[in-house]
Amino acid sequence: MRAVLSIGSNMDDRVELLRTVFEEFKDEIVSESRVYSTPPWGVEDQAEFLNAVIIVDVDQTPLELLHRGQALEAAAERVREQRWGPRTLDVDIIEIEGFSSETEELTVPHPHAAERAFVLIPWMAADVNATLGGKPVAELIGNVPQEDIEGIKVLGSIDKL
Ligand code: ATP
Ligand code: MG
Ligand code: MG
Repeated sequence: MRAVLSIGSNMDDRVELLRTVFEEFKDEIVSESRVYSTPPWGVEDQAEFLNAVIIVDVDQTPLELLHRGQALEAAAERVREQRWGPRTLDVDIIEIEGFSSETEELTVPHPHAAERAFVLIPWMAADVNATLGGKPVAELIGNVPQEDIEGIKVLGSIDKL
């Protein structure tokens, strides 16, 4: 099963926290973006995020993959205080090839992916031909506010940070 993961952190040692996800999936990564510095989205009064997208091929069910991401969040001592607020680590499933779900536990494709430059830009970098809901990600990037795109800076490959 091929899946697109969006990972983010804006607390503590952000690079090391993202690195735990790259490590966890190291034998299953098909493609990965570099790490980006991105302005906070949804709740703007908080620290800058680091974000990346990882495309994985896992021999697991969607819920097993979700729980694997949640175990990494728990290991990062993720605390949920405020929706879209500061977090040590967020591991979101953006899409799973040939699968969709609309439960509270797992909604894929991710309902906010198309509005989020911090997802779309790294995703296109990891897969230039990516599509979401039948539309090229490259085209979706054209619909997000220019200022969201302007705030995003590429930092470098996780191996070099
Ligand atoms: P957002 O999903 O808007 O980015 P968030 O990542 O901050 O917000 P979390 O607190 O990480 O939200 O997750 C809340 C719940 O979302 C989790 O309990 C999880 O089961 C559920 N969830 C539903 N769909 C997904 C998905 N595609 N990826 C990850 N978690 C999901
Ligand atoms: Mg999220
Ligand atoms: Mg999440």
